[in-house]
Amino acid sequence: MAPDDTSNISRLLDHEDVPPVFEQNAAGRSPFLFTSDHYGRLIPRTLGDLGLPADELTRHIAWDIGIAGVAETLSRQLDARLVAQHYSRLVIDCNRPPTAASSIPRLSEATMILGNEALSREAAETRRREIFDPYHQWIREIIDERLREGKPTVLVALHSFTPVYAGVRRPWHIGTLYHRDMTLAPLLLKALRAEGDLVVGNNEPYAVSDETDYTIPVHGEARGLINTGIEIRQDLIADGAGQQQWAERLARILGEIEIALRAAGKI
Ligand SMILES: [Zn+2]
Repeated sequence: MAPDDTSNISRLLDHEDVPPVFEQNAAGRSPFLFTSDHYGRLIPRTLGDLGLPADELTRHIAWDIGIAGVAETLSRQLDARLVAQHYSRLVIDCNRPPTAASSIPRLSEATMILGNEALSREAAETRRREIFDPYHQWIREIIDERLREGKPTVLVALHSFTPVYAGVRRPWHIGTLYHRDMTLAPLLLKALRAEGDLVVGNNEPYAVSDETDYTIPVHGEARGLINTGIEIRQDLIADGAGQQQWAERLARILGEIEIALRAAGKI
């Protein structure tokens, strides 16, 4: 064995794997800071296919289908910074506390993730250290910098949800997800309902909690930032045209909300 083999055991990403963090528009001037925890569906090469057939790795269990296109266009249109994560949530879910059982899921919807079975504590910590931690540290440092520079910051966590979960059809086109911050979600709900053609979820299909979420509680609520999560139904943003349409709609709505927040002295 080569002398460095021991240290290699705990290495997850190597020089051929892409870094976990994707960033766009770092110099964006908007108060909106977008995150996308489930942006990508990559798997580090050392983990193979996690024991899953290829068709499972393109399903919603692996990532938030369609959200990457929406997030990138929205960030460009609003001149806002976007921080996203390249690796599949089946490797480690970047919107779960690492202590949660679902952080590295052994079961997702009805699919067993064989590559996550009987995972050693060390292997779990390696995933955290190489994917979860750098992503959240990146967001933390951006917020530190913005607060230091007195830049107004509104955190919006972008997600998408599957139209059918465990056999149950979901009626909403879009939902807001919030918990402690009561500034942004009511404005967003009002604006989305005023569109007239949308079924809008109020904390649907999920509500934010400290047990089931990480980005909003840790980077939004604990830092005192105005924040919300947004969930868009995946069949609406499955192709480029849908992604463009939803990004444009959200850019218009969030642009109006920015004006309202400034007028109210909130940012
Ligand atoms: Zn998500």
